Amino acid sequence: MNEHNFKKQLGQNFLIDFESIIEFVDAADIKEGDNVLEIGPGDGAVSDIILQRKAQLTAVEIDSELIPTLNERFAGFTNFKLINADILQLDLAELGLNKGFKLIGALPYNISKQIINLFLKTTIKPACMCFILQKEVASDYAFKGRFLNILANTYAGKISYIKTLPAHFFNPEPKVESAIIKFEQLGPRFDKPESLLKFVKIAFSAPRKILSRNLANAGFDKLEIESELKKMGLSEKSRAGELAFEHWTKLYQALKK
Ligand code: SAM
Repeated sequence: MNEHNFKKQLGQNFLIDFESIIEFVDAADIKEGDNVLEIGPGDGAVSDIILQRKAQLTAVEIDSELIPTLNERFAGFTNFKLINADILQLDLAELGLNKGFKLIGALPYNISKQIINLFLKTTIKPACMCFILQKEVASDYAFKGRFLNILANTYAGKISYIKTLPAHFFNPEPKVESAIIKFEQLGPRFDKPESLLKFVKIAFSAPRKILSRNLANAGFDKLEIESELKKMGLSEKSRAGELAFEHWTKLYQALKK
């Protein structure tokens, strides 16, 4: 890949640490016969391992300069299908993915949240999704205290922070650390997921302020919020980051009555 002209605007930082490539594919539990969708195969380092495991791989790469290299590298593999497209513009139904396909990708950092949002909400549900993201963003999805964690919990029953990857595991080296993250049990966990998230977003609007004040500013009854927080064993002065997903669903349902 020495001759490749890395495109910063496409988030082209290729994973070069072989052990981490294996750990990434292992995290997605990719086995023979699995139907796998890979976003942004790049030079094919991750695709190679998936293909060796005899999974059926569909890879979507936006950079047309990488297409001949990838086709050449995997010419002998009948289980490889390459699509030159923008993952955000594709009609996912046309990819012919089996129910329960596995999704994997070292994502371009500038659009990683858009991609995750798309696949959290799509009706064609993957069995799991494993991504490499900027470490801070992966932490926001995986750990309590951030809006992104509640968003992820609204659409996935299990989110695991697998491993931090230092910058020197990539070529060219990004300025930030990365991490492997896994989403499982995909599907909405609340009957009106978008209304719930709109409500939670208001509570997070000034994250350092107490959440009852943020919600009261948007017209909710402050005393009622405080009483519901107390019923759940929480302080009436709680900040949005202190509540878990289950608290949000209870609070939303109580206030919407
Ligand atoms: N999979 C390789 C690896 O692990 O080393 C490359 C990962 S690199 C971080 C991101 C890849 O996504 C690049 O190959 C880039 O060209 C591709 N890409 C960027 N935007 C894309 C988009 N909208 N749709 C599909 N691929 C995209």
